[in-house]
Amino acid sequence: MDPRQLILANLERARPFMDMPDNIYQKLLKPERALDGRIVIPIDDGTEATFNYYRVQHNSHCGPTKGGIRYHPDVNRAEVEFLSMGMTWKTAVMELRYGGAKGGIAPCYEGLSPERIAFLRDYFPKKMSLPVLERLTREYTEKIAPIIGPYKDIPAPDVYTNSQVMAWIMDEYSKIVGYTCPGVVTGKPIVLGGSLGRNEATARGTFFTVLEALRHLGYEKMGTVVIQGFGNAGSIAAKLFYETGNFLITSVSDSKGGIYNRCGLNPDDVLKFKKETGSVVGYPDADFVTNEKLLTLPCTILLPAALENVITKDNADKIQAIIVAEPANGPTTIEADDILFNRGIFRIPDILANAGGVTVSYFEWVQNLQGLDWTEEEVNARLEAKMKYAFNKVLAESQANKVSMGTAAYIHAGKRLVEAGRLRG
Ligand code: GLU
Repeated sequence: MDPRQLILANLERARPFMDMPDNIYQKLLKPERALDGRIVIPIDDGTEATFNYYRVQHNSHCGPTKGGIRYHPDVNRAEVEFLSMGMTWKTAVMELRYGGAKGGIAPCYEGLSPERIAFLRDYFPKKMSLPVLERLTREYTEKIAPIIGPYKDIPAPDVYTNSQVMAWIMDEYSKIVGYTCPGVVTGKPIVLGGSLGRNEATARGTFFTVLEALRHLGYEKMGTVVIQGFGNAGSIAAKLFYETGNFLITSVSDSKGGIYNRCGLNPDDVLKFKKETGSVVGYPDADFVTNEKLLTLPCTILLPAALENVITKDNADKIQAIIVAEPANGPTTIEADDILFNRGIFRIPDILANAGGVTVSYFEWVQNLQGLDWTEEEVNARLEAKMKYAFNKVLAESQANKVSMGTAAYIHAGKRLVEAGRLRG
């Protein structure tokens, strides 16, 4: 399925609940601007390789566009466009002064032998040496420099990009404009203007929305948490829930499979095991579960923190969680949203549940523009306030219109996009 359909289907669901003029609707269907092209550089095996690069700016009604850069062997134009649309809706749900964008790089496989394709898929980006990764990032920055900038479009990390990649982008862009410009990217190392709390922000945002949901549902018992994906968001979310002492982490997984212990797992030990062995699978004192089975385990909170499209019409009937909260982008299909809603499962959709990352990116950008450094406590307190506020706005739309939190998030965000679009004319 074309991933863009998920956002468009959500827009169609939400549209009857707001007064959206056709000109604004038309703009939301497609990006405002998209840049793509090729980069050819020498790589580690001594050959030259060609990469396709993308930067898509979807909508700027509410401010400069914002969104991460993904380095992944499967990145393509449709996916980047889908993710840029998601950023428009995510920033609007959070009432940030941003629009949506996304970027990405993948090897170009055109005309290559199956062996070469297999090599590149395995190589990029996990096995690429730092000097080659730096060269690729600097060339990409040079290509997109005309359309990014602290008041135009501000990239950030996404899948397989990190603070070092952001440092190279900041440095290359600064060379082009002739002065040090920290506000052009977020997710930077702290010494270069990064924000305390940014690294944990996605998971912390999910955590705050879940606490609000539990309060709303009147749930006061000890809870169990099941997490698909043990990367940045999944592993940090596990720690946050564990540290409260009110939750047992009963199951976690990575791309190789999952582990389960009904008495609870210690996330620090699991992370240590994963760092040593490359996977959570094989962790002592736990049973193996497949990623499919994990999703249907009985639990209080299910966190899909890995891939798109994992909760579908084929398994939504079998989900046994009270709350599903989504650190990943696009894990639940629109049909599955209907099924979960009809079954009374409380779903906190991706554009709300994982918006903590871009929210602290916004804080980082604000600090950069003002030359200030906030404490971690201040960042976390502001994040908590923002997440609670947005959660309750979405909840109010859900209750007023008797729709799922998924549709309600699009209604709340859509109203803001309509108002901003109308006023700008
Ligand atoms: N890549 C993250 C997301 O999907 C963060 C984007 C940002 O911080 O700009 O929300």
